[in-house]
Amino acid sequence: MGNDQPSKTPDWRWHDENGFRRVVNVAGTMTGLGASVAPAPEVSRETAAATERFVDMHELQALASRTITELTGAEAGCLTASAGAGISLAVAACMTGLDPARVEALPLNPGPKSGVAVQMGHLCEYGSSITTGVALAGANVRIAGTATLCKDFQLSAVLDENTAAALYVVSHHVVHYGQIPFERFARLAHEKGVPVIVDAASEYDLRGFLEKGADLVIYSGHKFLGGPTSGIIAGRRDLVRACYLQNIGIGRGMKIGKESIMGAIAAMRAWMKRDHAAIRARETAALELWREALSDLPGISAYRVPDPTGNPLERLQVDVDPDKAGAGAPVITAALGRRDPAIIVRGHEAELGYFQLDPCNLLPGHAELVAEALRDEISRGAWEGIDPEEALASARNGGTDGYLRWLGNG
Ligand SMILES: *Cc1c(COP(=O)(O)O)cnc(C)c1O
Repeated sequence: MGNDQPSKTPDWRWHDENGFRRVVNVAGTMTGLGASVAPAPEVSRETAAATERFVDMHELQALASRTITELTGAEAGCLTASAGAGISLAVAACMTGLDPARVEALPLNPGPKSGVAVQMGHLCEYGSSITTGVALAGANVRIAGTATLCKDFQLSAVLDENTAAALYVVSHHVVHYGQIPFERFARLAHEKGVPVIVDAASEYDLRGFLEKGADLVIYSGHKFLGGPTSGIIAGRRDLVRACYLQNIGIGRGMKIGKESIMGAIAAMRAWMKRDHAAIRARETAALELWREALSDLPGISAYRVPDPTGNPLERLQVDVDPDKAGAGAPVITAALGRRDPAIIVRGHEAELGYFQLDPCNLLPGHAELVAEALRDEISRGAWEGIDPEEALASARNGGTDGYLRWLGNG
């Protein structure tokens, strides 16, 4: 998908030359694996061209704003380092407006209007906690409801004169029942004059939240869009301008460079021209190849499941009966991950007895490699050296273990 090699053979030269572990990403757009690959040659070309030139950065961001407007229907937009950065900047913007003195006062002196209303079931993490993203602006989360239920009056109770913004999170990581639906959430916030920020980092729907009342929406530039590492902020012109002004304050450490801006613009343009049906067909073919490869293995049942937030994407869910398969989902996930090339599957729900295969980041030859690896690993049943409890803990701890181990052995 991401490169134009005609060959079906995986190309590992770059990994081998640098001594990197060969990895196949069937986990999705994961930061720990490099998120995504460029969907079109223009993305790399535009990125490279910018590295060799000087330019007025405000003009570059104005072009980004026009592109974001075209992509999302928003009044304006700007780019920052990541969606995570976008959340902090959006919160800051709702606190400071266009007052540079207030921008400089963050995060130490936020003033009284520094609450951010969030439903408790939306307090998730995406590599770090969303609470940290809010706190970086000097704001504090005002929790509405309980983990699995938020009632209208509970949200309204945290929307008062000290509430700078209401934050709504769209993610497979949030609780999917008992939460206030988006349009109602936006209406309740607006009734109290509170602007609404949506974290839609990995959502394909680039227009719906703005149409339904969002004041600022944040997308990741390096997830489904396949751009360089970047975050997209789209929304009301005054608030987008206030987000951009944070570059003289807390936004400095979150700044995006010229090369990533041009790459992100190219990725947004590529998205508008992309043959989405053809990509979907290729993804479906991979899912069917894997389903077939797993079809007669004892204790394994594999079937296609839709994306939980409604993105136009399916994954293959692989249910594992440990008594018949010889090992549970966490152990099989670990076994696939220690192969060469490593097959990194979507294992964050392995404790529920399944893992998933995501087809959105396949490079040439990878689908076939995954099919072979699945059959080989599960039919051989070579699980020695994998402790089931450790495998489960590792799936649950996400990337934290990797950060702790880094450079840890001298
Ligand atoms: C991935 C993600 C983020 C963080 O996106 P980055 O661009 O990697 O910082 C934030 N929120 C949600 C819901 C995400 O899925």
